[in-house]
Amino acid sequence: MTARTKTKADGEAPEAAEETQPAEAEPPALCGKPHYLPVLAHLTCTEPAADPDLPPGTPEHEHRHQDGDALYTWQ
Ligand SMILES: [Zn+2]
Repeated sequence: MTARTKTKADGEAPEAAEETQPAEAEPPALCGKPHYLPVLAHLTCTEPAADPDLPPGTPEHEHRHQDGDALYTWQ
């Protein structure tokens, strides 16, 4: 009994695409909005930046900054 389960979609010659170069990967964009309180303005939002494709009028996410055990959130 022969099992033929191999299905190859592309019969192109395999290229050396196994080596990924993390240097080219873009770092995730952070929001970076400073805290609204001047005394805490050194805290910046570490949430991912808002998607620029969002329609206008979309409410901003809740900004947050984790500082050790303290978690700051602000609008
Ligand atoms: Zn934010």
